Amino acid sequence: MQRGGRAPRRPTMAAARASLRGLLVAAERAAGPARPWEQPIPHVTRLLRHSSNQPAGPQASPDPRNRGLPEGVEYIPTRKKGKNPMKPVGVAWYTLYARTRLGYLFYQRQLKKAQERYPRGHSIPQPCCFPGVKILPIPVLSSNYSYLVIDTGSSRAAVIDPSDPLAVEAAIEEEGVMLEAIFCTHKHWDHSGGNVALRQRHSSCKVYGSALDTIPELTNPLADREKVSVGCLTFEALATPGHTVGHMAYVLDGEPFGCPPCLFSGDLLFLAGCGRLFEGSPETMLASLDVAMSLGKDTLLWPGHEYALECLTFASLLELDNPALDQKLQWATQQRQEKRSTCPSTLGEEQTYNPFLRTHRPELQAALGMQQGTREDPDTFRARVLKEVRRRKDLYKAT
Ligand SMILES: [Zn+2]
Repeated sequence: MQRGGRAPRRPTMAAARASLRGLLVAAERAAGPARPWEQPIPHVTRLLRHSSNQPAGPQASPDPRNRGLPEGVEYIPTRKKGKNPMKPVGVAWYTLYARTRLGYLFYQRQLKKAQERYPRGHSIPQPCCFPGVKILPIPVLSSNYSYLVIDTGSSRAAVIDPSDPLAVEAAIEEEGVMLEAIFCTHKHWDHSGGNVALRQRHSSCKVYGSALDTIPELTNPLADREKVSVGCLTFEALATPGHTVGHMAYVLDGEPFGCPPCLFSGDLLFLAGCGRLFEGSPETMLASLDVAMSLGKDTLLWPGHEYALECLTFASLLELDNPALDQKLQWATQQRQEKRSTCPSTLGEEQTYNPFLRTHRPELQAALGMQQGTREDPDTFRARVLKEVRRRKDLYKAT
């Protein structure tokens, strides 16, 4: 698995295992205790801080290709120089996580740890029922949500982002439903890691997602705006790149059930937050967020992670005088004290406090000390604002 090593001699199995264990431990240290890649990377943050005017520390050698990487790990730049929001070490870890088997082993360790730490899930699930449809959030890993969406008339069901196959299977059995579809928002293991096991158990179940992401067991690649029916349920796929190149969000049409549309946003959009820009520019992410916002204010937002408290706290440090934000933070604090889920919110609500959706708001721009250039295109300026909010959030997470 290692690339670029000298290795004329074959390592023994014990040495290979020890080396793999070392890499996993190093990856865990870099990624934090519980969350895979939404988590800040302390090591990277140190480098970010060093990178301004301060002299580089002992880990920062002049050659970024060697900086702090485990032996045999290559530095693979994924985006153009000057456009990449991550420093080289972050890029290398990300590449390992997203593209190699090491990422899968890392995910399995995180899964095991989360199952030990949260045997009943990180939050108390609160089903949402409308006539004919039931949406059941399934708390998995340390902060992820999978969602079981059931056509209650026919007991056919779809699941969004089944990262923990055991937890999802338990919900399927408890509800007594037939799994017909897996909708995968993107390739990251904490969203797609259960695809293989669930397909083995439910062989007729189809796996939907973008062909641009390497989604495990993908059977039905979807194009932007393509629709899929599961019983009476209709889902529409929206191409929303930025977090990954093939990220997709899914919209459940609520009209037949007299309910609002439901947006399953994966790592595009969280309550008061948005996903990190691993494989896209701020301009790309802004366009994707605009696509989501075009769904209408009453749309229910079902995000991929329970990040509300952290995101709202960060937002409250940016906008000091926003009553809607203060109110939501107070509410979320209470919810989380009781381990209750904070989803869904609505897109209308999100516009009142989510800084990533408020790039057009003068009060946020002023709080950031940013001004639109006299000849600057409004969307170019909004993308600059988004980039700055994202940069501050990435630093905030590490503190
Ligand atoms: Zn992700």
